[in-house]
This record gives sequence, structure tokens and C-alpha cells, in this order.
Amino acid sequence: MTIELVRARQVVTGIRDRFTAEVLDDAAVAHDAGRIVAVDSFATLRAQHPDAPVQHFPRHMLLPGFVNAHHHVGLTPLQLGSPDHPLELWFASRLSSRDIDPVLDTLYGAFEMVASGVTCVQHLHPRMAGPAEGVVAGCMKVLGAYSRIGMRASFAYSVREQNRLVYGDDTAFCATLPGDLGPEMLAHLRRFSLSFNDQMAVYAALRDAHAGSPRTRIQLAPANLHWVTDDGLMTMVEQARSDDVPLHMHLLETPFQREYARRRTGTTAVRHLHRLGALGPSMTLGHAVWVDEGDIELLAHTGTCVCHNCSSNLRLRSGTAPVNAMARHGIVTALGIDEAGLNDDRDMLQEMRLALRIHRRPGLDAADVPTCAQVLRMATEHGAATTGFRHQIGRLAPGLRFDAVAIDANAATWPYQDDQVAPLDALLQRAKPQHVDTVFVDGDPIYAKGRFKYVDRDAVLAEIAQMLSRPPSGAELRRRHLAEAVMPHVRAFYDGYLQGA
Ligand SMILES: [Zn+2]
Repeated sequence: MTIELVRARQVVTGIRDRFTAEVLDDAAVAHDAGRIVAVDSFATLRAQHPDAPVQHFPRHMLLPGFVNAHHHVGLTPLQLGSPDHPLELWFASRLSSRDIDPVLDTLYGAFEMVASGVTCVQHLHPRMAGPAEGVVAGCMKVLGAYSRIGMRASFAYSVREQNRLVYGDDTAFCATLPGDLGPEMLAHLRRFSLSFNDQMAVYAALRDAHAGSPRTRIQLAPANLHWVTDDGLMTMVEQARSDDVPLHMHLLETPFQREYARRRTGTTAVRHLHRLGALGPSMTLGHAVWVDEGDIELLAHTGTCVCHNCSSNLRLRSGTAPVNAMARHGIVTALGIDEAGLNDDRDMLQEMRLALRIHRRPGLDAADVPTCAQVLRMATEHGAATTGFRHQIGRLAPGLRFDAVAIDANAATWPYQDDQVAPLDALLQRAKPQHVDTVFVDGDPIYAKGRFKYVDRDAVLAEIAQMLSRPPSGAELRRRHLAEAVMPHVRAFYDGYLQGA
């Protein structure tokens, strides 16, 4: 055993309930090659391990590493040329995004996540051009980039079977487009269409390639109700059960999706999933903005998890998820930055604050609105519960992996913070990424004092700048044209869609 002690002014071991964080003063974590052996006062651990090396964070709070529980890409759609639109139009506008190397792209997102304290990401990969072997190779590049930087990744290639552009059949929709636009659009969609069996083969190949991997887990992601058939969905649910992996599914992101579910199933999306037998603790619903009270009760009753993607919901005009009601029902609710946060980046500290603030509905009862402890639990233990690392991360407790972030509390609260406000509450409301001192994954300080241990951030950013400074390729220009040309037809598809809903 090679025990190391990591000592901090305060150690947050976890969250007991919405109002209570478990915080130890002048405490330490004892870990053995990344496995937590004990968490206690420094004096106690020093007595037990007199010769162990000590890393000391005298001005810092040490917290469980954050989990960004819903992420897709590195460079943001906005950066790549696709501005914020309502979600249904944004799907079309995203066609115009520039191409970017998957390794550089993944590193870009990872830089921002890690620098804000994220140690584990739930990466739901969007479509890639086929065939299956090429998709597997692309996913391996993404996972290789996470492993290069040292970050934990729970990964899924999002499965889509149908309705790739609008909430209706691809061929039927393309047949309504004028001139050459229909065949062009259909050809584009087909380039990104793998058969269901091929998509399951991608999952199996990635799963087998990462069996026993310490920092990578492979799971399943039925992309959204409109993108999958009931048979496909249930095949994935069965596969997830037999492999004991979680599922993450976008659901009810917008009122259009609620209406789509009503037209397809005659009931709500959540009741439909329940009827099929798809709900349960292994299922996480991303967004879940347009759930009703009965849906929330079903989610609570079945132990289904939710991932709250607050920034994305605002940016794509999706609405505000009923997080207070979910909390009242005790639903495990993770936090995801999705494509990008309010500042078009991946700042988990800001995302927590946004979740803390946006649900502060008028009233006097503090029990009705999110607490600091609650949003921290969303970003740690609850997020962890939705990934392939459930039960292994999310708290600082013996037996778990030592994933943690040390934040310089003095710097974050400089020049003054009154102690009538609990230190954790003050930190969560004031800390910025520049106050993140060190980020540990498996006890390894992969980021410290603004530098990544294994990757030269400046060099990667320079490479991205250089690659994208080239003029758009012929293929990129064709997609840009396609996006512009199809946009009015997509808009027209949804005209009146909600009437009578
Ligand atoms: Zn998403």
C-alpha cells in the first residue's frame, strides 16, 4: 500500500440532504493509488499514517469531483457557425457546422470541463458518418482524448433510427422539398444513418474494447423518443439490463416533443415509456422539461433519474424544467451543460449557480427552492448515479475512487466573506474557474495551477485555430447551403404543430 494524504482546510465528503452538506474542518483524504481508504480529521489520519506523503491545501475546500452528466461536443455549435435557435430549427441549422478533428474537439471540451472542476463526463456522441467500423474508430478517438487528458468518461453513441430532421419520416419529409433539395437532403441524412443492428454493434465493440478500463465506461443512449422505435428502445433497455449499464435518453425537451409523443402514443412520453417497461433507476431522462405532475410521480415511483440541462433549455428556448417538483418527489436529478453553457463554455460552477437561481420562484419558504447543498449533490452524487461509474464516485468516502477538486476558498471570497454564511454556500456562489486549484482523478492531479499534466492546452488551441482558419471545404459549403435552403421548410413543418395540443 502507498497511502497518500490530501489535506485541506475543509473537506466536503458529500451531501446528506437538500439542506445539509457533510463538511469536515482541517481534514484529509487518505487514498491508495486513487482508492479512498479513509476520510477524517488530518490529526487522526496523520497518526494512522505517520510516514505518508501529504499534499496540503491550506486555503482550500476539497469537494467531490463534479460530473457533467450530459455533454455532446467540444467546440460549440455557436463557434462552428450555428447560432441558437428553437431546438426544432436548431437541428436544421446545425447542418452548417464546420468539421473538426474529434481528438482536438474532445480535448477542447475537456479543457473547459476539467478547469471548472469536472472529473467525469457523460458523453453522448451525436451522429457520425458511417459505416459502423468508421463510427467505432471515431468514438475510439474521442475516448482516447479523454484518456489522454486523464478524465473519466461514461460514453454512449446516441442511437437514432428515424425522423432525423423533423418529427416525421425522413423520406416523406424530403419528398415535400422543392427541386433537388429533397434528394440532396435525403442523401445527406443517409450518410449519417446506420442500421439499428450496426448501431448496437458499435455499442458492443466499444463495450468490449473498454472492458475493465479504469476511467471509461460504455453505456446506451436511445437518442430521443422521436428518433427511436419502441422495439429499438426496448432492445436497448434489455441490452442495458443484461450488461448492467445505464441508459440516457433525451426526452420532452420542448412542447413540440410533448405533442409528438401525444400523437404517436396517445399519452405522455413518460407514461408511454412506463407502459413499455423502460423506466427505472438505470434510465436517465435528459431535459424532461415538459413533464406533468403525473409523469413526475411515475419517475419518482420507478426511481428514474433526470438530467437537468438548464443553460441549454434557455438557449434553445425549450423552457424551464420543474426541478422544484422533482426535488419534492426525491427524484435523482443530475446536472448537464449539454452543448454549452450560458457563456458558451463548460463552466460547471456557473451551471450550478444557474440551477440554483432559475428555480427561485416567488414565496417565503426556503424549502421550495434549490439549495446550495442540493445543486452540489446534482453536480456530484446524483450526476454520478446516471453514469457507468455509479457507486464508485460522487462522494469522498472509503471504497470510492478519489476524484476531487480543490478550490482556493480564500481567493474565491477575497477580500472578505462573513462567516454567517456557511463556507460551502459562499464558495458555490462565488467561485470561478480561476479559483480551481487542483483536479484529481483517481488520485492523479490531472490539472493544477492552471496547467494540464498530460496535454499542452496552448498547443492544442493553436492547432484548432490553425485548422479552422482554412476556408470551408466544398462539403462544408454544400452543408451550409443545405441548412439555409431547408430551414424555411422545417419551420413550415412545425407551423400549427402545437395547435389543439
Ligand atoms: Zn443533449
